[in-house]
Amino acid sequence: MNLMYKSTRNSEHKVVASQAILQGLSSDGGLYVPESIPQLSKSMDELAKMDYPTLAYEVMKLYFTDYTEEELRNCINRAYDDKFDTPHIAPIKAVGDSYYLELFHGATIAFKDMALSILPHLLTTAAKKNKVKEDIVILTATSGDTGKAALSGFADVDGTKIVVFYPKDGVSSVQKKQMVTQKGSNTLVIAVEGNFDDTQTGVKAIFNNKDLAKEMKERGYRFSSANSINIGRLIPQVVYYVYAYANLYKNGVIKNGEKINFVVPTGNFGNILAAYYGKRMGLPIDKLICASNENKVLYDFFETGRYDKNREFVLTTSPSMDILISSNLERLIYQIADCDSSITRELMEALSSEGAYEISDSMKDNLAGFIGGWADSNEAKETIHRVYNEDKYVLDTHTAVATTVYNNYMKETGDKTKTVIVSTASPYKFADSVLEAIQSDSVPAEDYDQALMLKDLSGVDIPKAVEEIHSAPVLHKITCKVDEMEDNIKEYLKII
Ligand SMILES: *Cc1c(COP(=O)(O)O)cnc(C)c1O
Repeated sequence: MNLMYKSTRNSEHKVVASQAILQGLSSDGGLYVPESIPQLSKSMDELAKMDYPTLAYEVMKLYFTDYTEEELRNCINRAYDDKFDTPHIAPIKAVGDSYYLELFHGATIAFKDMALSILPHLLTTAAKKNKVKEDIVILTATSGDTGKAALSGFADVDGTKIVVFYPKDGVSSVQKKQMVTQKGSNTLVIAVEGNFDDTQTGVKAIFNNKDLAKEMKERGYRFSSANSINIGRLIPQVVYYVYAYANLYKNGVIKNGEKINFVVPTGNFGNILAAYYGKRMGLPIDKLICASNENKVLYDFFETGRYDKNREFVLTTSPSMDILISSNLERLIYQIADCDSSITRELMEALSSEGAYEISDSMKDNLAGFIGGWADSNEAKETIHRVYNEDKYVLDTHTAVATTVYNNYMKETGDKTKTVIVSTASPYKFADSVLEAIQSDSVPAEDYDQALMLKDLSGVDIPKAVEEIHSAPVLHKITCKVDEMEDNIKEYLKII
């Protein structure tokens, strides 16, 4: 019997995993969720002996039940290979009194690689299984890291094209350079005059445009999404939470069954939602601490039960968290509404018409275990400085937000529970802000000089991803307005 996936906005509509992955978003605008969250089927003693790909199979097979063992293992083996600079894939580092789960050892040195290195394989396998004849056009809005990770995952993958939109002034210089230098005959990268939410809203409108979908089909194309709303991105992220726990257990840091906390620097709510799924699968997790920057919609939501995106959008030094509409929160809303799709639909409709909604008291009760926190760019900067001075460990700006939130949480609660801070990017990706924090007086102007300085300070080699873009030519130069996004796609696919 297959695990079926339902839309968060319509419980009548059910599909198998491969169809949910192909579609990305459900046609009613909802997100696909598993009908029930499966339980871990192996003991922690068994899981602790597994390497990353083996463990990944144990977790993913519980969700992607219509993939054969061969298909799924094949996807996993093609994803978690030497594109990562360590065979551990997601290593844990003990620093001071906490543990960092480093999710930045993949091709684009940010955590998006964890899911986007496998998604193209899950997707092309799904297309084969479902006898899809059209080429798949991946359409993505990015606040920086998704774009490059998706481009790198899909570049030159047969039967796919990939179009990435990014907010013109909303990504770091390295992020931008990584994207505009992307090779591959099937890639298109466009800067949008607007912020990330404008860009994401534009992409969602294109997805929901039925006329366009029809035109596309006539020309042999269909859209799919690599954004974190795709269930094929969410589930691979559950793996590293299980892996982190199994590792701490294996190394004697925790006893079997001992509860731990995770602190997650959050934007679209995908990463921390994967931790929540892990917890619901039986992983011993106590608190899930959701760390935001100045765009603290989620912090306010956890404090008050009211989600309100009507506020000023702030550009921070942690751009991948500069988000006011956290798309994946819809999946949590659905869970805390006891899987009631009409409640979820009403709240999401209120979000799109009024920009705000408020959850009921019983839903609020179901949020127990989540803690919200936030830190501004200045505090994050001080944290980078302090952790470097104390431990010679260099945090990136996003991870620094999480560390700050955790320190504040510790001060307030005295919670002694062992805690893993999820580290979502290499400091090399945000070298200017990181160097500014460590020694503000002498930051070189050029990206590559910054990398060299960071190497001196941290003793960590310059990652391949940074070496590569050093001399690469700019291949993507288009900038457009939000209302021109669709035309650009049509032009690229020659359907104008
Ligand atoms: C995407 C990203 C985040 C936010 O993750 P979500 O799953 O969107 O909450 C945090 N840090 C970095 C470096 C990222 O790339």
